[in-house]
Amino acid sequence: MFRNYKMVPRLVFGRGAFNQLGDILAEKRTADCSAMIFVVDDVFRDKPLADRLPVEPRDRLLWVNVDEEPKTGYVDHLTQLAREHTAAEGTLPAGVIGIGGGSAMDLAKAVSLMLTNPGSSADYQGWDLIKNPAVYHAAVPTLSGTGAEVSRTAVLTGPEKKLGLNSDYTVFDQLVLDPELIADVPVDQWFYTGMDCYIHCVESLNGDFCNPFSQACAEKAQDLCRKVFLEGGEQRDDDLMMASFLGGLSIAYSQVGVCHALSYGLSFVLGLHHGIGNCVVFDYLEEFYPEGVRDFRRMQERHGIELPRGLTADLDEAQVEKMIDVSMVMEPLWEHALGSDWKTIMTRDRARELFLRM
Ligand code: NAD
Ligand code: ZN
Repeated sequence: MFRNYKMVPRLVFGRGAFNQLGDILAEKRTADCSAMIFVVDDVFRDKPLADRLPVEPRDRLLWVNVDEEPKTGYVDHLTQLAREHTAAEGTLPAGVIGIGGGSAMDLAKAVSLMLTNPGSSADYQGWDLIKNPAVYHAAVPTLSGTGAEVSRTAVLTGPEKKLGLNSDYTVFDQLVLDPELIADVPVDQWFYTGMDCYIHCVESLNGDFCNPFSQACAEKAQDLCRKVFLEGGEQRDDDLMMASFLGGLSIAYSQVGVCHALSYGLSFVLGLHHGIGNCVVFDYLEEFYPEGVRDFRRMQERHGIELPRGLTADLDEAQVEKMIDVSMVMEPLWEHALGSDWKTIMTRDRARELFLRM
């Protein structure tokens, strides 16, 4: 069976495209349901972007903090605020707009889903557990690489697991891709999140589930990443934004691999963010992705990025075991990367040995 991939149906791309957001949302405001909920990364609270948000008097602006990656409890709290905002009119908000990096976009996706599905977001961590369509939801990325703008998941850490709300309803209804918005990302963060995209490409291409669709997207995205991180140039931000988009499309129709499987374990135990966690892990994966790691190191060197070392040195046995547990359950990733007999290749001992080097 081939996957029937649900795509984002509408997008605008271009420098200054953000100025169109107000007009785009106006079409979604109706007489009895006009209020929009803006879910915006609080890094912009005192920045010029705050004054450019097309927030109308009936809307609610929720500044969100993403120092920690999104948690189910936080999603439930934000959903409650959004619901209360229009409760007096007996309606739901007309839409939820996520503005920020992968974390803010995932929060917006999750809130839009939880407005129409009862209970806690923790009840829906998994695949296709969401029963009702979300309210209209749109995204404006301000950081590029995760591909969260095109994916069918909103990654959340819950009381028991870190797992996304994976469903066709999760996919955004609208994207506003404006490369001007990623111009001021600090270089370390720009590199870590950009490398998430680069690693998506390497992993998508090097595995059994790769196919001409995912190959076409990943090869272009990988070329763009090399151009961005090894050459730069005036079009750098436009290129990275497109790479993130194409890399996201590629993994949606293929799979990620060894780096993501291990990095989920590392991040779960150490609370490390996705982008930097991937970079830490990828540096040790030369045996699996020799060319990819070689180019990664060139890019790292060019931008003077120092990766943290010795992260697992002080972990106790239970923590290391947990790291291995979390990684090992990522079966489709291992199968894609190492084949159907992956369990004989990536034994718990081998995973342990890799983790202990980090
Ligand atoms: P992020 O959204 O966590 O943001 C990282 C930092 O960059 C934050 O401090 C944020 O405030 C800051 N930032 C964002 N935009 C900025 C800008 N324009 N200028 C200055 N600072 C800015 O980072 P990310 O790497 O984009 O996303 C990681 C998150 O995405 C994780 O929670 C991860 O689980 C999730 N993720 C989701 C998917 C998906 O398909 N849904 C895929 C990969 C990762
Ligand atoms: Zn990733």
